[in-house]
Amino acid sequence: MRLVLVGPPGAGKGTQAQFIASNLSIPKISTGDIFRANVSGGTDLGKLAKSYMDRGDLVPDEVTIAMVRDRLSEGDAQDGFLLDGFPRNVSQAEVLRKMLEEWDLALDLVLELVVEDDEVVRRLAGRRTCSQCGRIWHVEFDDKKDDLCDACGGALFQRDDDKEETVRHRLEVYQEQTAPLVDFYANEGILVGVDATGPVEEITQRAMEAIRPYLG
Ligand SMILES: [Zn+2]
Repeated sequence: MRLVLVGPPGAGKGTQAQFIASNLSIPKISTGDIFRANVSGGTDLGKLAKSYMDRGDLVPDEVTIAMVRDRLSEGDAQDGFLLDGFPRNVSQAEVLRKMLEEWDLALDLVLELVVEDDEVVRRLAGRRTCSQCGRIWHVEFDDKKDDLCDACGGALFQRDDDKEETVRHRLEVYQEQTAPLVDFYANEGILVGVDATGPVEEITQRAMEAIRPYLG
């Protein structure tokens, strides 16, 4: 099974990617992991990527694509994979399609985790971080009545990333980039949406049910 997972920030994509990949016995391939592996392994692509990151620049598409190509060529990815964080836009999706075509392969399925914007804001903007131990609490889900860490007594604060306006901005950026990507895969007839609200295990279950018809 060759699978791509897409979903907004706060959808629990990383967690679901892990569970789904492990259920299907395929490697979870995230761009973050690929970057770290190349940089820490000191590969030519890693050095190139690092030179951009050190300057505070975005790593160009070609570098990311070359890393993805290398990773998909590895032995464990030959019988399938779950991609998380790639493709990020339509032009990357077109490159991925060509890459797979070269190998006489194609994606089987693109799974979209669907969460309403307001639910994402509720999840992320309710997070509070402990200034001492770094633990994360949730004002609503952990029923926090005070601004102190239950583990160490440290003062809790809201990270800038978790502020509502930042979350809403990240959602806008996501929509801009990903809406066309979702349309692209819908046109190819391989897009399936999964309701990503509720307990983590239920979301995984729903995802597996959505995948089942596509398993060879
Ligand atoms: Zn603490």
